[in-house]
Amino acid sequence: MSGREAFELTPKEENFSRWFDEVLFKAEILDEKYPIKGMYIWLPFGYELIENVMDIMERLMRDTGHKRVYFPGVVPERVLGREFKFIKGFEDSIYWITKLGRQNIEEKLALRPTSEAIMYEVLNRWITSYKDLPLRIYQIVPVYRYETKATRPMLRVREIAFFKEGHTFHATYEDAVKQVELGIRIYKKFYDELLVPYVIVKTTPWDTFPGAKYNYDILTIMPDGKALELGSVINFGDLFAKAYSLEYMDKNGEKKHVNTTSFGISERSLAALVSIHGDNRGLKLPPKLAPIQIVIIPIVSKGYEEKINEYCREVSDTLSKEFRVFLDDSEDRPGYKFYKWEMKGVPIRIEIGKKEYKERTLTISRRDSMERVKISADDIVESLSSIFRDIEDSMRSQAEDYFNKRTVHVTSIEGIKKNIGDKMISFAWCGLDECGHEVEEKVGYSILGYEENTLVDSGEKCIICGRKAKHKAWIGRSY
Ligand SMILES: [Zn+2]
Repeated sequence: MSGREAFELTPKEENFSRWFDEVLFKAEILDEKYPIKGMYIWLPFGYELIENVMDIMERLMRDTGHKRVYFPGVVPERVLGREFKFIKGFEDSIYWITKLGRQNIEEKLALRPTSEAIMYEVLNRWITSYKDLPLRIYQIVPVYRYETKATRPMLRVREIAFFKEGHTFHATYEDAVKQVELGIRIYKKFYDELLVPYVIVKTTPWDTFPGAKYNYDILTIMPDGKALELGSVINFGDLFAKAYSLEYMDKNGEKKHVNTTSFGISERSLAALVSIHGDNRGLKLPPKLAPIQIVIIPIVSKGYEEKINEYCREVSDTLSKEFRVFLDDSEDRPGYKFYKWEMKGVPIRIEIGKKEYKERTLTISRRDSMERVKISADDIVESLSSIFRDIEDSMRSQAEDYFNKRTVHVTSIEGIKKNIGDKMISFAWCGLDECGHEVEEKVGYSILGYEENTLVDSGEKCIICGRKAKHKAWIGRSY
């Protein structure tokens, strides 16, 4: 058996959601057989991968003055309760701890569904004067929400295992506005490094995050034609601070409410990367993120076993100084190893046999294009660095092509109806609520958000009323 059967996937274009589940399992990212629905085990390979993703985010957070903290995972009901007035039905999605041992406890405790409430409660002590502001903190923690819809690994879960939430506190509304712009810049850099294409939209007033002045969402389109929200940046102004009596003393000794923002992403970012770049052989990982960047596979010939293995070790030692390398000298057959490492998305495979040994060459196979080339064993670090740059460029342009094919700009309601379910659709909108509502009623889907004032000088007309358009709005099926 060559090993192909063990690594066979349902074709992605035939049944995306089955392909997605299979690839997570066969590439050993997740074990889906946890006894609680909507919760998953992260396997060593998956954990290394998500760590590489989160490391990029951590670097971006640190470079922009955000400090990491850790708040405990349980929140008393009294504290959380103040948030219920903002979010309808929120209470029903919470996991409650109601017993300690055999005793019922007096005050219920919630498994962290969100962190705003507990942070604001505590920050009353941290923030007293304008000198304490701005304050920028973040944490990467699990959050728990009882999801009633059908759960999906990484996409719709009951435990978000890697929730990166940033929370910031400012003296003025203008400072909070600037922070939101900073949050958007961070997310752009993050998704650019992940090679995940996106659009950033402001949500409609009727779909704004409860308790917020406004918020931006970052969206991508998945291979099944559904939009996926990849993160959001929220400006609460002083609304949350008022609910939690979060005040500071300004320069004139006057008490004022703090202005706050929050921004979050999760393992959905990895779900998008896997879905957009993966193919019917498995994952395709950008070199920067791949837990293993190069796998070396010896192709042993009789009489040359020791020489080939020695050459493999020499190449491995040289490359390990610069890259994450794995020499697969296990007893599995080479064909099996090829399929296995293709499934795991290793960007470069190096094959070394008798011929390569004699010529002092290497046969290189690229996961992104499946191209094979032979290179000299001299200056291999330079050669491979250049191939990695090329892989990244080519994956980036593939992602752009993908996004362009999966999105469309239309000029009529019929245009929306024709493409809905298959693509993410943009159209011209004057910005009036009644036109927005009419689009939603006629199409039966919600507006995902709009790119603010992007059509002001375009000469385009609102799809409903025909007045001068202001925004490019986006609509589509979504997760
Ligand atoms: Zn209009």
